[in-house]
Amino acid sequence: MITAGIDVGSTATKAVIFDGTIRSYGIIPTGWNPKEAGRSVLLEVLKKAGLKEKDIGAIVGTGYGRVSLPFVQQKVTEITCHAKGARFLFPQTRTVIDIGGQDSKVIAVGEDGSVTDFIMNDKCAAGTGRFLQVMTGILDITLDELGQMASASQPVSINNMCTVFAESEIIGLLAQEVSKEAIASGIVQTIANKIISLASRVPCLEEITFTGGVANNPEICASLSSAFGAKFNIAHQPQIIGALGAAILGYEKQMKKVM
Ligand code: ADP
Repeated sequence: MITAGIDVGSTATKAVIFDGTIRSYGIIPTGWNPKEAGRSVLLEVLKKAGLKEKDIGAIVGTGYGRVSLPFVQQKVTEITCHAKGARFLFPQTRTVIDIGGQDSKVIAVGEDGSVTDFIMNDKCAAGTGRFLQVMTGILDITLDELGQMASASQPVSINNMCTVFAESEIIGLLAQEVSKEAIASGIVQTIANKIISLASRVPCLEEITFTGGVANNPEICASLSSAFGAKFNIAHQPQIIGALGAAILGYEKQMKKVM
């Protein structure tokens, strides 16, 4: 049995081919056409796995752009998919923190792996990858450099969580010749604070698994891990966990049919 999961996110489109383990995966920018991005990433992961579309038993779509995918057999929310993918990699997961391009979520997972509660920040860019992208734009550094710089300094306090106000605040700090390292460290702290405040609104239990593109940043991982003080898992490829969960849901459904 082989299945595919496609996660069309606001910023990146991810796909996973699953056959009981991860056979291949791909991450591409979503761009302006979610349907096209879904198709392209599917072709990419099929090629990597040496497969054709007819070899796939089921394709499951997730992410905000899942509605745009005409070639999937099932569409599932990213909340369910992130929980599923996180539990596959870290079976004791009870809380999933997902920070993506335009929203962040904290998902509570029951002992049996079902989603019991969640909270989502999708109204503004504070505490999301978009916040980081705007801030790295002002500092003229890459997302990877943000992490490296943040580890080299104590944080300067950034008082505004709102992206627009924080942008002005950072321009002001640069004018006062505050180092980029201190600002980078302050940005990381701001994201961590936003997520900690979000997480206080759902029951947050051990173990925590951190998913989404922002979990690629070691400094943000370290900052959240020490703030929560719980066992804190980060996958080797945290951005594909939603697509992985989608592929697993398809796999389980197909297995039930043949048994
Ligand atoms: P979505 O599903 O909403 O498209 P993703 O989970 O794919 O979101 O994550 C995309 C976000 O990941 C981007 O906004 C980007 O800022 C962030 N990201 C990717 N790599 C890094 C990194 N190394 N450090 C910090 N953020 C990163």
